[in-house]
Amino acid sequence: MRRIRDHSTGEMFNRWEHLGQNRAKRLQSSWAGVFRTHVLTKLPVEKLSEEFDPVMGRPTVDLAVVTGAIILQQIFNLTDRETVEAIAFNITWHYALDIRSEADLEMTDRTLRSYRKLVMDRGLDEIIFRDVTDGLIKSLGLDTSKQRIDSTAFKSAMRELTRLGTFVETISKFIRELKRKAPMEYERVDPEIVRKYVDREGEGCFGVRPIETGKRLPEAAGMLREMIEMFRGTDAETIESYGLMERLFDEQCEIVDGNELRIRIPKEVRCDNMNNPSDPDSSYNGHKGRGYTAQVMETYTEVDHGEKKVPDIVTYVAINKMTEMDTQAMKPALDEVEERGIKPEVVTADTPYGAYANRVDALSRGVEIVAPSQPPQYYRSGMLSIEHFELDADGFVIKCPAGQVPKTVNAMKDRMDARFEKSTCATCELAHFCPCGKRALKGVKPRLWYRYKRLERRNRLLYEQTAEFLDKYRWRAGIEGTMSRLKHWLKLDRLRVRGRPAVSLALRFKVLGLNVLRCATYMAA
Ligand code: SF4
Repeated sequence: MRRIRDHSTGEMFNRWEHLGQNRAKRLQSSWAGVFRTHVLTKLPVEKLSEEFDPVMGRPTVDLAVVTGAIILQQIFNLTDRETVEAIAFNITWHYALDIRSEADLEMTDRTLRSYRKLVMDRGLDEIIFRDVTDGLIKSLGLDTSKQRIDSTAFKSAMRELTRLGTFVETISKFIRELKRKAPMEYERVDPEIVRKYVDREGEGCFGVRPIETGKRLPEAAGMLREMIEMFRGTDAETIESYGLMERLFDEQCEIVDGNELRIRIPKEVRCDNMNNPSDPDSSYNGHKGRGYTAQVMETYTEVDHGEKKVPDIVTYVAINKMTEMDTQAMKPALDEVEERGIKPEVVTADTPYGAYANRVDALSRGVEIVAPSQPPQYYRSGMLSIEHFELDADGFVIKCPAGQVPKTVNAMKDRMDARFEKSTCATCELAHFCPCGKRALKGVKPRLWYRYKRLERRNRLLYEQTAEFLDKYRWRAGIEGTMSRLKHWLKLDRLRVRGRPAVSLALRFKVLGLNVLRCATYMAA
């Protein structure tokens, strides 16, 4: 039977009177007060209640209380046992969750786990994040016209395995699941295989130490193939870990010369390969390691340190694979905030977000992306380029970096050029760094040519060196503080969960927690 209490209506008697005026006031102005007023009342409990009969069966715990507790668990990075204890004994939690019944105080960790699974299965973490954040923005009247976006890499609670380790763990996981879900099929597994791969006891078992990898990989790969073929077309094929075995085989092995098994060399294996069957969705990036990427967009105000400022609120959060580039993250972020009616006018971001296609898309929505453009390779190498030449308003070269005026300048259909005096260029002290000087040294007529698109890029690069641009762009750096707080205050770098749904829930609720904590600080000031 569903049990949903109305948390928007106050009680007839003040249950917090015994705290005294000062302590009650402190409670009210703490994060608990913000949580009780702005989070608890916005939770989509009706969606969760669809899982339960309206009248039949044992009454559920208060759905708002249990959902709120799942959020607080992530904010404070607690285990299930610690969360249940906080629900039972922590007075701040009682206030934040507006607990009014003894039954809710006696929640068990099993209850917490099963409701958390419901929240994950129904994708409520995303809905809760959006609804509560939009509510906070509306209640505090926050300005969303300026926002900044960045990404950060983080890991789930997953052990990184060697290649041999991945094979052994995947086979072991399948055998364990087979025993539980298809006991009849399990009878067909040789006990010797169970000893080697699951129990890992006695001679010839897999210790999965790095030293063993090269020697025993073919044996484990052969076993993987044998298991896939043995259970193909049986009930075992429907078990999730059977799919993981097939995926691992496709990623790491291939059949050559008719029927011979070949293990792919590491550089043939894709970056988003499966490393650990416990977290098959994590992926690998050469610079950042293995895990996930969080895309975070937040509001900001152009107020310098020391002045009173409104809180920066994270408006958008998404979880991506390590293999997805930041360039691809801008459009989904703008789509979402536009749909929610909190579209910015200006977004500051790093170079990848400011890709040409993203700028064009943003402009069509009336959004300006303030991001440095990718400088051409020639420009970055320290050589002289079109940026170092003086041009007039029409794009014709007036003077070279050494002050030489071109002999002729021309505008063609798709490009422009400027020709210089060969003898001057050949003796110029910048000749080795200048495209014209290099030509002159080779005995070719010195000439600088550039396409019209390159001219646009030059203007942009020069604009990015102006005080006006640098003053706009400097506000991007503030998001690094947000990433640091997420990782160190809210322990995003020490997640207790693995698997994309659980990691996604933890990330969203931690970000939501950051919003709540920031609003509480602002309101208390
Ligand atoms: S090499 Fe020629 S074009 Fe280049 S800087 Fe020297 S004088 Fe100017």
